[in-house]
Amino acid sequence: MPELHQLSVAELALHLREKKVSAVETAQHFLARMRAHQDLAAFLAVDEEATLTQARAADAAIAAGSAGALAGVPIAHKDIFVTKDFASTAGSKILAGYRSPFDATVVRRLADAGMVTLGKLSCDEFAMGSANESVAVPAVGHKVPSPVRNPWDPSCIAGGSSGGSAAAVAARLAPAASGTDTGGSIRQPASFCGITGIKPTYGRASRYGMIAYASSLDQAGPMARSASDCALLLSALCGPDPDRDSTSLDVPAQDYSRGLNDKLDGLRIGLPREFFGPGLAADVRAAIDAALKEYEKLGAKLVEISLPRTELAIPVYYIIAPAEASSNLSRFDGVKFGHRAKDYTDLLEMYKKTRAEGFGDEVKRRIMVGTYVLSHGYYDAYYLQAQKIRRLIADDFQQAFKQCDVIAGPVAPTVAWALGDKTDDPVAAYLADIYTLPASLAGLPGMSVPAGFGAGNMPVGLQLIGNYLQEGKLLNAAHRYQQATDFHLRTPEGF
Ligand code: GLN
Repeated sequence: MPELHQLSVAELALHLREKKVSAVETAQHFLARMRAHQDLAAFLAVDEEATLTQARAADAAIAAGSAGALAGVPIAHKDIFVTKDFASTAGSKILAGYRSPFDATVVRRLADAGMVTLGKLSCDEFAMGSANESVAVPAVGHKVPSPVRNPWDPSCIAGGSSGGSAAAVAARLAPAASGTDTGGSIRQPASFCGITGIKPTYGRASRYGMIAYASSLDQAGPMARSASDCALLLSALCGPDPDRDSTSLDVPAQDYSRGLNDKLDGLRIGLPREFFGPGLAADVRAAIDAALKEYEKLGAKLVEISLPRTELAIPVYYIIAPAEASSNLSRFDGVKFGHRAKDYTDLLEMYKKTRAEGFGDEVKRRIMVGTYVLSHGYYDAYYLQAQKIRRLIADDFQQAFKQCDVIAGPVAPTVAWALGDKTDDPVAAYLADIYTLPASLAGLPGMSVPAGFGAGNMPVGLQLIGNYLQEGKLLNAAHRYQQATDFHLRTPEGF
């Protein structure tokens, strides 16, 4: 039998069900790997006893014949999801030591399917970032906060904000992880670390218990090695949550594994002209072109389309997301959760000191931008304009979907960059979000599929974007491609 960390989610689930291995043995195996690879700084919290307790419960359910479909399969959660068994920080000092009294809906649904939580994964503070360099709490085994390292080259970023999730899956520290995507945070780190990740349609997964960044954009999704594993996880985590998230869609959960093998004959793949412009690095372009050739071999037809407002997605997103963040983050005031400043003379000073000490630079920058664009004098000029253009961006996609079934292009203009490269230039990092922001603003499902390697032998992700609720179509297209290629099976050296 191959080592446990080489097995897919589906294979592990089968081995567990057939009692070839126990959930406790499986959990111990992955916890040992996590300890051996702490230098990646992927985990922010572990509690071996809590994990083993969950694993024992999974073994008991398997023995009793009452186990869920994914019983005993380990998963690690982005530290944006609150969990009652593990501390939850959103990567921020302001939540240091915070313990939630409940599990996020996504966490609970996966636990109901029998999954065992290995721990909490690093992310940019409050999911604001593209490099996982703005995490403000130390990783497990570290004394000071450290960026997550890319398992393909530890001198490079893992991407963000779900960098811990991507690195953990790529390094085989977990067979799967949860992530969240507000403007690309599942797709971009998945692309940079050579794994598969899908952000479903806005509202498909419940946001209950996901620490809010920009509520009209935030969406949860799975990250794993293959599209077929993502299909299993997405089926388990999606579904309406009417009592807890009023924006969750009233669409029943769905079995995404079903259509995975459908033929791609005649599938029209739209290539937005604007995604292949001069900003796209040649190495990434070459990998994407090769992937598109493979799709032609699989029977798909390539059609050129246009998403004319692609460039506007950056200013629009960086107005709307900070606006919502400035409102969402007002709840961190030293009273209800986590950190409170020590010395203060009155309530106002307590608020000010707590927030000054608790938030990092990027978070403060966005709170200031958000407060500014929502202010009385500037609301019409910035926020309202941005909302109008957001609608036009969504309309552009509907025009495009008249000509094609799915849209394909790069996830990011380059492969993962070196640690520290963009830390002094936040706008340079914002610009790298160009290909992921449009689908986020439109609320469309998007995924990243490993599609080869670029400069420095770093992974390149192919982005697939579908129309509303067409996750199944994306997973099908990704799965057929993965049957014909092996990029998703490649392992970084040493893992
Ligand atoms: N990079 C984008 C940002 O910094 C997206 C982050 C995300 O999707 N959470 O906001």
